[in-house]
Amino acid sequence: MIKTIFAGILVLILVIACGEKEEEPKPITGAAIAGTISEESVSEFSGKNAFAHVEALTAFGPRPIGSEAYQKSLQYLETELAKLGWKTKRQNFTGITPIGPQEFTNLLARYSPDSDPDWNSSTPFLLCSHLDTKLFAEFEFLGVNDSGSSTGVLVEMARVLSVKNEGAKNVELVFFDGEEAILKNIQSKDGLYGSRYYAAQLDKRLIKPQIGIVLDIVGDPKIPLLIGGDTHQKLESHTRSAASKLNLQNWVQPHAGTILDDHVPLMNRANLAVLHLIGNFSDADYWHEKGDTLDKITPGALENTGKLTLQILHQLTK
Ligand SMILES: [Zn+2]
Repeated sequence: MIKTIFAGILVLILVIACGEKEEEPKPITGAAIAGTISEESVSEFSGKNAFAHVEALTAFGPRPIGSEAYQKSLQYLETELAKLGWKTKRQNFTGITPIGPQEFTNLLARYSPDSDPDWNSSTPFLLCSHLDTKLFAEFEFLGVNDSGSSTGVLVEMARVLSVKNEGAKNVELVFFDGEEAILKNIQSKDGLYGSRYYAAQLDKRLIKPQIGIVLDIVGDPKIPLLIGGDTHQKLESHTRSAASKLNLQNWVQPHAGTILDDHVPLMNRANLAVLHLIGNFSDADYWHEKGDTLDKITPGALENTGKLTLQILHQLTK
């Protein structure tokens, strides 16, 4: 009898243990992991540095389609990334918009200090943000949280990753143009211009990426950071375990619904497993308003986003 009880308890323990076992995301295509992203690099991320990049971008003014500030922002990112050993490539294209054909520029970056990267091949991971701000004629829209915050996080991420240069070779940074719709909110044919073009161009690469991580509206500590509902199940589980490891489980919340954003073309057009992390903008009364200014974001929230993303990358490469 006692033996039976012990056996029963043992089975129960095994069931619980298996239920908690973390599953690794299944690689979808062939880009091999180039090196681990160390756990020590997680604490290396500085929210202050990320905030300084957001401040610098904000000083150029609004960055909507065709603006001078967008061009200055591209030059700023190219200069900052070059200092860190990252090579950049502008991806210029013409998009068909409700106001006619428009010119757009995505910016791609790879850690490759000693040579030019092979742009016909891919790293396993894409880390993405949009760089444009939504066009508003009636007021000055600075877009500090939408899209300055995620852009600042990516530049600081480039610094942290290049400290451990082997791991940096796993990541391509992508700054999308034209995420914002020209007319109202993003729809299938208005908005996501940069990510739609980028995803289609991946067809030409001989080696494809496996996973796309898209960050958006990540700098406000007062609004939860949502794991979009169309996030790959295994990436969601990695994100939840990374959040609890960093004691961020109250801030990082799974979201039942899906939000149309740059991850959608990566998922539907390029067949990548995606992770969509986006601040709950419906809780932000300044979203797409004049008030999306520097006082809405904090170095602490940027640091939490950066550390969370690094912890996820660490888990994916260990
Ligand atoms: Zn927006």
